Amino acid sequence: MNGDKTVTKSFEYAESIIDTVREPLIVLDQDLRVVSVNRSFYDVFKVKPDETVGQRIYDLGNKQWDIPRLRELLETILPGRIAFDNYEVQHDFSTIGRRAMLLNARQIERRKGIPRIILLAIEDITARKEMEQEIKRLAYHDPLTNLPNRMLLTDRLNMAKNLSDRNRKKVALMMLDLDKFKEINDTLGHHVGDQLLQVVAKKLTGILRKEDTVARFGGDEFVLVLPDQKDVQNALKVARKIIDVFRNEVVLEGHALIITSSIGIAIYPDHGEDIDTIMKNADRAMYRAKQAGRNQYHLYEAV
Ligand code: GH3
Ligand code: MG
Repeated sequence: MNGDKTVTKSFEYAESIIDTVREPLIVLDQDLRVVSVNRSFYDVFKVKPDETVGQRIYDLGNKQWDIPRLRELLETILPGRIAFDNYEVQHDFSTIGRRAMLLNARQIERRKGIPRIILLAIEDITARKEMEQEIKRLAYHDPLTNLPNRMLLTDRLNMAKNLSDRNRKKVALMMLDLDKFKEINDTLGHHVGDQLLQVVAKKLTGILRKEDTVARFGGDEFVLVLPDQKDVQNALKVARKIIDVFRNEVVLEGHALIITSSIGIAIYPDHGEDIDTIMKNADRAMYRAKQAGRNQYHLYEAV
């Protein structure tokens, strides 16, 4: 009798402690049935106590917890160990939406001869993950147009080059610079110039395939990367399309504007063995397009 009371008391004591832990905690027996959870677990995962204790973990919240990676942790990884930390699980809960969680799992032995219990601590890292992604996005994109910046362009170019080395295909690199863009800034103001850069970004994105990249290289200069090319034909077609699409006027703040561009094209590996050379040669071809009167494309020619 007295012993029972002590057990109840120490249980309540333990419960009151785990209720103060901010991380959701869940205690399971060896059949993966819930022995107890703390208050935070109910708060975060919006499940009810009478639908939780005694249930298999996978059945919680109308089987929302039947998560393959959780099964892997509890059934394959944990049985061979005492603990496993920082196991990342992403899951779309119908009640609370998509969550990224870090699970820390521990097998706890209470007394010899009695099966261990499993303590699962859940750290919600959704906000942290989102922030990391946002930081990455900011680091790799141009804030005005939201296009990839130079850093991401370098990444994509290297990827395209490696792919091309493996499968003997080509990479087309197109350097595009807007014609007389300064005049727009000078006559209509920098803010109209900014809007025009955004329109140009959209037009270029609209022309390309999913696997192509258009990056803002700086100022009024854009770089297009077309990986996995058989020959130069597709790049020439894209260049014609760009010239065509730019023929339509853009209306900004009541001004009807026509913007044109000069495009230089260089092909890897035909026009250079490394990316730097290809960039330089695309730039040279672009310069020729400018010299030849703008609003046109030029394919690099070795002289
Ligand atoms: P060209 O045909 O020779 O290219 O003439 P251009 O006037 O376009 O001259 P250039 O390409 O050398 O200059 C680009 C101009 O783009 C210079 C600068 O005033 C403007 N510019 C660069 N970055 C931005 C920007 O973020 N916003 C706006 N509005 N203008 C920019
Ligand atoms: Mg320009």
